[in-house]
Amino acid sequence: MTEILAADAAGIARAAALLRAGRLVAFGTETVYGLGADATDARAVASVFEAKGRPRFNPLICHYADADAAFAHVEASDAARLLAERFWPGPLTLVLPRRAACPVAPLAGAGLDTLAVRVPAHPVARALLRAVDRPVAAPSANRSGQVSPTTAAHVLAGLGGRIAAVLDSGPCAVGVESSVLDLTGPRPFLLRPGGVSRETLEAAVGPVGLGITPAAEQSGGLRSPGLLVSHYAPSLPVRLDAAKVAGDEALLAFGPPLPGAGAVFQLSAARDTTEAAANLFSALRALDAQGTALGLRGIAAMPVPNEGLGLAINDRLQRAAAPRH
Ligand code: AMP
Ligand code: MG
Repeated sequence: MTEILAADAAGIARAAALLRAGRLVAFGTETVYGLGADATDARAVASVFEAKGRPRFNPLICHYADADAAFAHVEASDAARLLAERFWPGPLTLVLPRRAACPVAPLAGAGLDTLAVRVPAHPVARALLRAVDRPVAAPSANRSGQVSPTTAAHVLAGLGGRIAAVLDSGPCAVGVESSVLDLTGPRPFLLRPGGVSRETLEAAVGPVGLGITPAAEQSGGLRSPGLLVSHYAPSLPVRLDAAKVAGDEALLAFGPPLPGAGAVFQLSAARDTTEAAANLFSALRALDAQGTALGLRGIAAMPVPNEGLGLAINDRLQRAAAPRH
C-alpha cells in the first residue's frame, strides 16, 4: 500500500519520517514528481532503482533545502555560487566535484567523483527537505522507460504499491526536468536541456557548451547525460563470471566467496541483489585500491543473477570489464 499524504504539516512530517527511515517517498517539485530516497542510505538508494525497474545505474540528482547544504557536500566554484545565487531555488542542477567528506552513498552518484545537486523551488519540496535534513536523491517518479509524472495520480499509476508514500502537492508548474549543467570542466556544459534555457545560463556565466564535452571528445564518447555518463571504471581490469580465482586477483564475491583470492569484497553474503547494488561502487573502489596496493593483476567478479537489481549490476560490471579506449 502506498500512502497518499496531503501537503500539510502532518503529511510533510510523515513523509520526512519515512525518508529518514530509508523508505521511498515521491514528492512534487516545480519540474516533475521525484522519487525520493535518503541519499546517504545506500540501501534506500538501491531501492529507488528497484522500484523504477531501471536496467542500469545512472547517477541521481541530490536535492537540498538550500545552497549552503548543497555546497557542504560538493566543491562550489565561483560560477557555481553565481548560478546558485541567480537560479536557486529553481530548475537548475549543477554537477560539481564531491567533497572528500561527502556522505552521499556512492551508488547515488553511480560511483562518480562528481555529484549533481539541486535546490528545488516548490515550497512543499523545500519544507520536506528541511524536515528530512539530509540530501534526498530523486530521479523522476516513473517506471523506467515511461514519461515523467507531473501529478500524484501519474505517480500512483506507475509506482502505486511499490513505494511507501506520495506527497501530493498538486500538479507541477514547469513540467519539464531541470537543466543539468556540468561545472567540472574548463567551461560549463549543458548535459541536459531543461527548465532554465541555455541562453539564460549564458547570460549569467558566458559560453555554455552543449552535447559532447572536449574531454569526452578526446576519449571518443559522450560525457553524459541520461544517455551515457562517463562511467566509473576501476583501473584494474575486471573479469566477469569467475568460477575460480587466482591468488594475484581480487575477488568481488556474491554469496560464499571462491577460495584463494588475494583480496575479497563481499557484495552480499545472502545473495540479495538489492544489498549487492548498495555495495557495488564502494566494493569496486575498495578492491581497486587494495588490489593496486597489493600488486594484484585484476578483479574477478563472481556471477550475479539477472534478477532484481542483478540486471543493473551486470550492466555496470560489463562496462567495467569492457576494453578501454
Ligand atoms: P533524472 O534522474 O531522470 O532526473 O536524470 C538525472 C540527470 O542528471 C541524468 O541525465 C544524469 O545523467 C545527470 N547526472 C546526474 N549526476 C550526474 C553526474 N555526476 N555527472 C553527469 N551527469 C549527471
Ligand atoms: Mg526520468
